[in-house]
Amino acid sequence: MTSNPRILLAGNWKMNHGPKATREFLSRLDLPKKDGAQARIYVPCLSLPEALAAVEERRLPVQIGAQNIHYERSGAFTGEISGPMLSEIGIHQVLIGHSERRQYFAETNESILLKTRSALEQGFEVLLCIGELLSERESGRTETVLREQLVRVLQNEECKAHFGGRLHLAYEPVWAIGTGVVATPEQAEQAHSFIRSLLASSLGESKARATKILYGGSVTPANFKELLSRPGIDGGLVGGASLKPDSFRALWDLI
Ligand code: PEP
Repeated sequence: MTSNPRILLAGNWKMNHGPKATREFLSRLDLPKKDGAQARIYVPCLSLPEALAAVEERRLPVQIGAQNIHYERSGAFTGEISGPMLSEIGIHQVLIGHSERRQYFAETNESILLKTRSALEQGFEVLLCIGELLSERESGRTETVLREQLVRVLQNEECKAHFGGRLHLAYEPVWAIGTGVVATPEQAEQAHSFIRSLLASSLGESKARATKILYGGSVTPANFKELLSRPGIDGGLVGGASLKPDSFRALWDLI
């Protein structure tokens, strides 16, 4: 099957699907391999071992990732998960800076830099999420906010070295996450183009081009194709529509 080798379909299950539901999802998922295109699912921490085992058993072309990582490797951080713990069970992918982490768990651009740098130092592949609130878009601050969210990682030598390699981005306008209000392809294309121009001015054209920028926010099988047809949109970070094997497969079929 031919497909676009740049495209990454990443599911974010959030706080859904414990080990049993994870096993059930992966036993029902029928996903043909595609040349170059990647599928990945960020599952809840407790379901990671189950997901890894099921993917291996069924030889599914799906990478399994964690939704969070602490920036310290061990210590007095009750309730947190460290990089060495994730590595020990065979996890190589982490999602960092999701807007729900920023909103409900007080993550800031500063703590997100610490996590991103630490995860990269420890060999993880990072998908870093950025995106503006509705009020920020409505007051014409979208680009300012995106710049603020990226400036620290773009100034950090460890992060800079990994853009386009083990560090990629997801643009997720917060007003589109879980709301059913998807950004128009024009809005998404414009934001992606702005983000890529920020990357290019700090890292150069070639790293900017090599960095995947996924779109996230109410992606469904009904709107994914049109988003993917826009230049600069390298895949989707998908919440709700990644929770059922049939809709995950339907998204995969559009790549
Ligand atoms: C997300 O979880 O990052 C997300 C974009 O969710 P949804 O697709 O449900 O809007």
